[in-house]
Amino acid sequence: MGAHSDGMSTGITEGFSGAVGGTPLIRLHALSALTGCEILGKAEFMNPGGSVKDRAALGILQEAEASGQLKPGGTVVEGTAGNTGIGLTHLCNARGYRCLIVIPETQSAEKIGLLRSLGAEVRTVPAVPYSDPANYVRLSGRIAEETPGAVWANQFDNLANRRAHYGSTGPEIWQQTGGRLDAWVAATGTGGTYAGVALYLKEQDPRIRCVLADPCGSALYSWATDGTLKSEGNSITEGIGNSRVTANLEGAPIDDAVRIDDPMALRTIYGLLWQEGLFMGGSVGINVAAAVETARRLGPGHRIVTVLCDSGDRYRSRLYDPDWLAGRGLEQPQRTGTALIP
Ligand code: PMP
Repeated sequence: MGAHSDGMSTGITEGFSGAVGGTPLIRLHALSALTGCEILGKAEFMNPGGSVKDRAALGILQEAEASGQLKPGGTVVEGTAGNTGIGLTHLCNARGYRCLIVIPETQSAEKIGLLRSLGAEVRTVPAVPYSDPANYVRLSGRIAEETPGAVWANQFDNLANRRAHYGSTGPEIWQQTGGRLDAWVAATGTGGTYAGVALYLKEQDPRIRCVLADPCGSALYSWATDGTLKSEGNSITEGIGNSRVTANLEGAPIDDAVRIDDPMALRTIYGLLWQEGLFMGGSVGINVAAAVETARRLGPGHRIVTVLCDSGDRYRSRLYDPDWLAGRGLEQPQRTGTALIP
């Protein structure tokens, strides 16, 4: 049952919005056996728009409606790596708004094509740093300002994003584990998922370790470990990592941080496919590999929860295409009888 259904346990949800949340928590058997820990993945790819970002999109729209900022027939504008835009477009269709999405042209063709199929007005722009006024996030803010009747979702700095996770993802994890968990591990894009869940879980039990996972090319690992925003290398993962501390991440508890490189993330998603039957996107490789590293740091006997953000379907032409990988100096993992995830 969706987190936003009527609460009467009928199993019937209020439209698309009511079907958001209430996702399963999946035990990852091979990795649990490998580490002697219990590794659990919150199946956010099972949201009706296909990703963890449906929750943020719904929370942002509900707050904008409640404040009177977003009026019937209004326009929602957002800068997004794809998933927030996909969630927003579904929700705008279901709730009677127009949706305008600004997305860096470096994002997967699957996500950009899907946004167009869903009916968003899509503007692809060159990927430039946040410091540049032409950056997709900053541009989306200006477009919202200049468009009559428009609101800017502003997922990076609008705290409605993390409140959505504080109010749904966190409580669901707490309930599904019966309050028995030792660590929460997640990478951050806006920080909404990581921070909302971390803030909720720490309030329930301050002993739960909150671990920030980060891809190469992001400045958050160095920020979390030594306080400086420095990035090294790059990553083929999408939707995670940042060069700055967003309002959604600010003030979130961070007990530890783990950096995962692309070869490790790739071995992890292929391992999930072949060993668990789960077809996952790249950020899941970072999350699950960081959960495994956390298991190693904690030792056997612990229970660790992470997020399965979206499906591999959104990256078939990239993460699952050997030629695309080879073009980036990466080898497609090969299926053998032995465990892929060291
Ligand atoms: N994984 C994917 C595939 C995403 O699109 C996002 C959102 N940008 C995240 C992880 C991170 O979620 P959040 O924005 O809540 O930090």
